[in-house]
Amino acid sequence: MQMSKVSKCDVTGCAYNTDNQCHAYAITIGNSGTPKCDTLCMASGKTDDTNSTAGVGACKTTSCKANKGFECTAPEITVGFQGNEADCLSFTPR
Ligand code: SF4
Repeated sequence: MQMSKVSKCDVTGCAYNTDNQCHAYAITIGNSGTPKCDTLCMASGKTDDTNSTAGVGACKTTSCKANKGFECTAPEITVGFQGNEADCLSFTPR
């Protein structure tokens, strides 16, 4: 299975974000209630690796159609704010 890519992220204050791209090696989405980005890191510094594009290493939001066995099967996702929370905007309820 190929890792889903994070094609865009609007959470520009996150340490992994430059130019609306996520450069974490892999992110984790979700908790039991919402599809939030669980890798969000608000810090004063920024990641040194701005060449890579993050994948979705794990997704705990089993109420999403793309979630199969706690993994994301979507080819790519986008992340952004829903209210005050950084969420997976590709979340599709079952
Ligand atoms: S996807 Fe998550 S970890 Fe990556 S830049 Fe956005 S908020 Fe940060």
